[in-house]
Amino acid sequence: MRKKMKPGKLFIDGKWRDALSGKTFPTINPATEEVITQVAQGDEGDIDLAVRAARKAFEEGPWSSMAAADRGKLLWKIGDLIMKYADELAELESLDTGKPVSHPLGSRNADIPYTAECFQYYAGWATKIYGETIPVRGNILNYTLKEPVGVVGAITPWNFPLLLVSWKLGPALAAGNTIVLKPSEVTPLTALRLAEIIQEAGVPDGVVNVVTGYGENGAGAALVRHPRVDKIAFTGEYTTGQDVMRNAAGTVKRISLEQGGKSPNIVLSDADIDSAVIGAFWGIFWNKGELCTAGSRLFVEKSIHDKFMEKLIGMTDTPVAGDPFDANTSLGPVISNDQLEKDLHYIDVGKREAKLVAGGERIDVGTGKGYFLQPTIFDEVDNSMRIAQEEIFGPVLATIQFEDLDEVIQKGNDTIFGLAAAIWTRDIKKAHIAARKLKAGTVWINTYHTYDMGSPFGGYKMSGFGRELGMQAMDLYTQVKSVYVDLNM
Ligand code: NAD
Repeated sequence: MRKKMKPGKLFIDGKWRDALSGKTFPTINPATEEVITQVAQGDEGDIDLAVRAARKAFEEGPWSSMAAADRGKLLWKIGDLIMKYADELAELESLDTGKPVSHPLGSRNADIPYTAECFQYYAGWATKIYGETIPVRGNILNYTLKEPVGVVGAITPWNFPLLLVSWKLGPALAAGNTIVLKPSEVTPLTALRLAEIIQEAGVPDGVVNVVTGYGENGAGAALVRHPRVDKIAFTGEYTTGQDVMRNAAGTVKRISLEQGGKSPNIVLSDADIDSAVIGAFWGIFWNKGELCTAGSRLFVEKSIHDKFMEKLIGMTDTPVAGDPFDANTSLGPVISNDQLEKDLHYIDVGKREAKLVAGGERIDVGTGKGYFLQPTIFDEVDNSMRIAQEEIFGPVLATIQFEDLDEVIQKGNDTIFGLAAAIWTRDIKKAHIAARKLKAGTVWINTYHTYDMGSPFGGYKMSGFGRELGMQAMDLYTQVKSVYVDLNM
């Protein structure tokens, strides 16, 4: 079932409306290079309407007076509806992103069920947000209230379009905030379908608004600058995050930033080599390398390097590139022509800096269309090279050799980023020493890409600040008020 999308509109105050300018822009299927549909190009004026609707729903609407338990029930229902429409949502996500639909790590088995799980995880949190009583000096009762921050502007990227929306909307709604969501202009479709689902679940009008449009000089920047938005929850490139910080400064808005990475994936000589090879392979090539946490710097101990690389390079033949709707496909196209050009540029840079040992070319899947790219591996990389320092965000791996643990931890940390890191070893002491010393928000030991809604996720250094997921995400969407009561008669 491939739906023919209706022309896009903005979702503001529970109603579908054209952009004030009447402008639209196309969203492209990266597997065929065809236009899927036109999407409304929201701008400053549309953002203002959406913020007003969200502000009204926050201050006056039934949302602010709704019992926390009822908010929780609505979040649970959103999760149920996402699973009811899972096939349709997965198809939409794959049309827009090129993710294989039925692969175990594809849209139907990963993105969509994890999205439902996120809403349902935070359904439980709605009733568990409360303050404290504090033993202050004197005959005084002091207690704290934990309140929602207000209107949240959520700005999301294209690599996990629906899932990363749920990471923001789940905790923000559980805490009682209202939202203006600006999804990526590259992959806006599932966010629009989610708006319908949220309405069907019974969430009051104005609580969630979706304004599609561009970032810089468009809806994204307007949302960040808007004086009646209380918080921006941003996921995207660190350079965009810098812009978000600058623009948020005008109104001293609270912000949280989830940004890129150049994560070290470290294999010691005593590791279970076969598991580490699989971890290294899917660590970088899952989702065509379009992962903020991609293990894009592979550190292999010198004594096992040759054996390890032979097995790793051997795996590059396994992914089957092709139509994301074909059940045999395990490698979809990269997201866009721009991203393909960026990947190919870095492959050229890599060829000058290091040794190409696998891939490096576009793939023709028989249609002459689509942004398919071979899993690409560079060896003999030095950590100071551009392909080891800059986030490529594509299926390109840089392999670096090392000789001892201190050296590899120092090199692993020698990056502007700090999103994730992994170590493969049978030595429990080395594993935990590395976990302490690696400067990253997530450290994996003998695994890669393990996530859970209950465990915090976020960055060190220029990978950002604030933690999504887990109970920690509730801190992003609540603020604390201290109340003093004089008990003297
Ligand atoms: P991007 O920064 O180009 O865009 C992200 C969002 O920001 C989009 O919605 C875009 O329209 C908007 N935007 C762009 N300029 C803006 C501006 N000046 N003001 C406000 N909004 C603006 O990122 P992308 O290319 O969509 O995504 C890829 C990046 O996201 C990579 O760096 C990746 O590592 C990162 N990412 C991080 C995480 C995480 O959780 N840490 C998760 C996924 C992706």
